Amino acid sequence: TTARTLANCIFCKIVKGEIPSFKLIETELSYSFLDIGPVSKGHALVIPKHCAVKMHELPDEYLADAMPIAKKIAIALGVENYNILQNNGRIAHQEVDHVHFHVIPKYSATEHEG
Ligand code: 5GP
Repeated sequence: TTARTLANCIFCKIVKGEIPSFKLIETELSYSFLDIGPVSKGHALVIPKHCAVKMHELPDEYLADAMPIAKKIAIALGVENYNILQNNGRIAHQEVDHVHFHVIPKYSATEHEG
């Protein structure tokens, strides 16, 4: 499957290297990187290389590729507490119109919070 990319999409530009990012894991179908405005230390995003705005518009193969990456990131971060978040639509707080999964570590008050 050929991934659809949009010239003016910020996350497509990140995949293509036209905008710099702190890359974590890349596969044929997915790309992951640190969020530029982290909610907590290690906040990462996993995105499909196919440009779709909302999750229900994304071909299954891209969905299937993304979740193991979120899992690997959680393991690599070594956190026992984290949220996986994915927003669809403005009312649901989606700001970037390219499907993305947040991996957000959660820390106790005594753990280091970045
Ligand atoms: P949303 O609210 O759409 O679910 O989340 C969009 C996320 O993308 C936000 O957490 C925001 O910080 C992140 N973001 C937006 N632009 C960039 C960028 O250019 N680089 C990176 N690394 N993250 C971005």
